[in-house]
Amino acid sequence: MEKKNLDWANIGFGYMTTSMRYVANYKDGAWDEGTLTTDATITLNECAGVLQYAQTCFEGLKAYTTEDGHIVTFRPDLNGSRMEDSARRLEMPVFPKERFVDAVCQVVKANAEWVPPYGSGATLYIRPYMFGSNPVIGVKPADEYQFRIFTTPVGPYFKGGAKPLTIKVSDFDRAAPQGTGHIKAGLNYAMSLHAIVTAHQEGYDENMYLDPATRTKVEETGGANFIFVTKDHKVVTPKSDSILPSITRRSLIYVAKEYLGLEVEEREVLFEEVKDFAECGLCGTAAVISPVGKIVDHGKEICLPSGMTEMGPVTKKLYDTLTGIQMGHIQAPEGWIRVIE
Ligand SMILES: *Cc1c(COP(=O)(O)O)cnc(C)c1O
Repeated sequence: MEKKNLDWANIGFGYMTTSMRYVANYKDGAWDEGTLTTDATITLNECAGVLQYAQTCFEGLKAYTTEDGHIVTFRPDLNGSRMEDSARRLEMPVFPKERFVDAVCQVVKANAEWVPPYGSGATLYIRPYMFGSNPVIGVKPADEYQFRIFTTPVGPYFKGGAKPLTIKVSDFDRAAPQGTGHIKAGLNYAMSLHAIVTAHQEGYDENMYLDPATRTKVEETGGANFIFVTKDHKVVTPKSDSILPSITRRSLIYVAKEYLGLEVEEREVLFEEVKDFAECGLCGTAAVISPVGKIVDHGKEICLPSGMTEMGPVTKKLYDTLTGIQMGHIQAPEGWIRVIE
């Protein structure tokens, strides 16, 4: 199979139409068998539930080529079960996780020529999503839904090395205590746009959201979980019911304990403690870990000892081990790597 002739190292993070996408429709209480299609356009009624009341959720994962030439994805079963949770919370029908994984495999296989080659640093980003598709004007869940998956190639996240980020303690809230912060709903992102645009205008890379009830505890950023390292090399990660359960963060915790022999604490993290940490990183599928160099709280700067030029040593070890597992250089735990072809 010929690869597309793209400058893989320089494609950036944007949408590019690839050959095939997957579509399944839910109607009269059941999902149809689903199919691959070349049609990248969706035609919807003007009153579709998703357009009026934002009934939609999504997932994000990547396919990439390992050193021995296989196309693989990383723990897609966890994306499938997280999407089940998102659907339940939004009163949407569950698209079963087994079918989710099968659909991911089908669509990646159908777009194999778009999966970047090993060593390019680029990956094929996979975007599963679901939305209410029939007209809804009184506030209630839709009766009909579409589940779709498209793929788009994305360039290496860190071009020219991982430069530590400067983040701002936000005055905006991301997720209410009993709200939807723990599911991957489009609505969480809609309400974060003003906060991130504001932060960018002020020269920050990202927002740190605190718990809205007391504003004393660290939650997460708009799209990544926090991981901290103490001066004595303990890995600490915030625990809260309104944090999105990042698959990357859960994998890093396992790697920290089982591969690196580090002590890990999953617990509430007071903002007050942040100044005492040695390292800080943001974890998510896109970057695995982005190092944080500086956190600014209303003009008061917290400079992490790891500095503004490179990843801290423990963060780097976590990053190297997890990416080594993903690329097939390090033996993966059972079930983590799903080979597609
Ligand atoms: C998707 C997402 C993450 C990262 O999750 P991964 O499964 O690691 O990609 C973190 N926070 C939020 C709010 C997210 O939507």
